[in-house]
Amino acid sequence: MDEDVTGAQVLAESLRAQKVEYMFGVVGVPIIEVAMAAQSVGIKYVGMRNEQAACYAASAIGYLTGRPGACLVVSGPGLIHALGGMANANANCWPVVVVGGSSDKNQETTGAFQEFPQVEACRLYSKFSARPSSLEAIPSVIEKAVRTSIYGRPGAVYVDITGDMVNAKVNRSQIKVLSCCPPPPVSVAESGAINEALSVLKASKRPLIIIGKGAAFAQAETVLRSFVETSGLPFLPTPMGKGVVSDDHPNCVAAARSRALLQADVVLLLGARLNWILHFGLPPRFDPTVKIIQVDLCPEEIGNNVRPAAALLGDINAVVSQLLQNIREDSWRYSPDTEWWGTLKSKIAANTKISETLALQATLPMNYYTVFHHISKLLPRDCIIVSEGANTMDIGRTMLNNYLPRHRLDAGTFGTMGVGLGFAIAAAVMEKSKVNGQRVICVEGDSAFGFSGMEVETMCRFNLPIIVIVVNNNGIYSGVDPETWKEMAKLGDLTTIAPPVTLLPEARYDEVMTAFGGQGFLVRTVEELHSALERSLNDWDKPSLLNVLIDPASDRKQQEFPWLTRSNL
Ligand code: ADP
Ligand code: MG
Repeated sequence: MDEDVTGAQVLAESLRAQKVEYMFGVVGVPIIEVAMAAQSVGIKYVGMRNEQAACYAASAIGYLTGRPGACLVVSGPGLIHALGGMANANANCWPVVVVGGSSDKNQETTGAFQEFPQVEACRLYSKFSARPSSLEAIPSVIEKAVRTSIYGRPGAVYVDITGDMVNAKVNRSQIKVLSCCPPPPVSVAESGAINEALSVLKASKRPLIIIGKGAAFAQAETVLRSFVETSGLPFLPTPMGKGVVSDDHPNCVAAARSRALLQADVVLLLGARLNWILHFGLPPRFDPTVKIIQVDLCPEEIGNNVRPAAALLGDINAVVSQLLQNIREDSWRYSPDTEWWGTLKSKIAANTKISETLALQATLPMNYYTVFHHISKLLPRDCIIVSEGANTMDIGRTMLNNYLPRHRLDAGTFGTMGVGLGFAIAAAVMEKSKVNGQRVICVEGDSAFGFSGMEVETMCRFNLPIIVIVVNNNGIYSGVDPETWKEMAKLGDLTTIAPPVTLLPEARYDEVMTAFGGQGFLVRTVEELHSALERSLNDWDKPSLLNVLIDPASDRKQQEFPWLTRSNL
């Protein structure tokens, strides 16, 4: 009991006591000792190449497990690089704990090495931002940080530790250990609101359930599946709501998304916000008279953009159980023979046919649909799909099914490009620690890959069997072919004439992977795609990268509406 402990040890033990299992970071002065202390208490430490990717990784752990991961960064620029990750986590409502070293307290205001007002800077990007006033205060600040990250609407939190605190010592008897905070208390919706919701739902002619990533985070899959099956209602997942109820469930109307949104007269909104992803719940994408039954645990969210017909404030698991109990009691079920189901089914059939025709085009270079069609045939049903890019993410979302909850990670609410490799590393580190771990497939546009491409070294260092598929169209949105590029270079200074969307044609991203000892494949044809993906799936010991060269002019099939609803200026 007389033993002295350092600030680094107290910090690590406090994180461990709050069941933080993973830490991602980039070490340097003054936090190397914190990473070592974390390892010595059993926290898995993954050293990354940029704090931004480390913070994306830590936040993915929060989404996947419900318990925050930690991100460890150095002072000043280290912390500033992590702000992107905090902003992304907060926008997604994902818990993450960022721990930042900062310059020594007695040098504050002197122009110290990497001095920056870190606690203040984090306020805009987090729910909670604080510096413990002493070593003795560390356990309670960490407990509060972790608790705040998961209670209410989940989000990012920041804890600052000054360089002098890291190595300062205190007698262990002075430290009050705080046990792990319990899971968030559950709230149910008020019974009047439940009755209102049920009467609106039961009177609906064209009902639709929308399942968002809030439902995925809430781990509401069991009750939601029962609700869908008992009610017989059609459902539409948001991008990361995919898999909460399987994409191949007969009630899934994802392939008729635009039609379902446009014509629904009642929407039961479960853990999704009416933001840009759902076109604000307004015309021209929604019926102007649509009635929204909104289920959310965040009171401030209720009524954003559309005033709901019924507001069910509470935890999704609990609220859906309330609804389920009622429809079971009076054996209510939405008929499968309605005109609405007929409309949705014929739209699904028509859209599926268009995609299939595009997918079976045998022209070279391949188009997006061909690539995704063949990838989807080979992927294991339980794989975790990470996806980002423009067309790569949008078309990939419609062509790559998710059969399990929390098995899709993408650019999310904030539309962040560059999240993919960090997310994939987090998922793969988690899966690697399980007996029957699942494969992680990271489908990247060539531009998206570039933001954190050096994290390939991290994948190779930890032997993470991630399969990175770069769908390479030589640019952002679109590019040009190598010949056109050469001709363009002859015409003058590329900085003045190259279209800003272009990237180096046929760049050898596969060689980035081989440079660090992973497997790299250059893929131009369907046959090459099959053989490279099969070989990668058979290799459980190292990462692979498939550099899939596609037609730089390949585009989405004709859409009824543009993907982004803009204001009419
Ligand atoms: P999506 O991107 O899928 O549309 P959003 O991130 O926009 O999803 O919305 C998720 C919503 O879910 C947020 O408004 C959040 O407050 C809510 N949420 C998160 N966890 C729960 C929960 N356990 N119960 C109810 N609502 C939740
Ligand atoms: Mg591209």
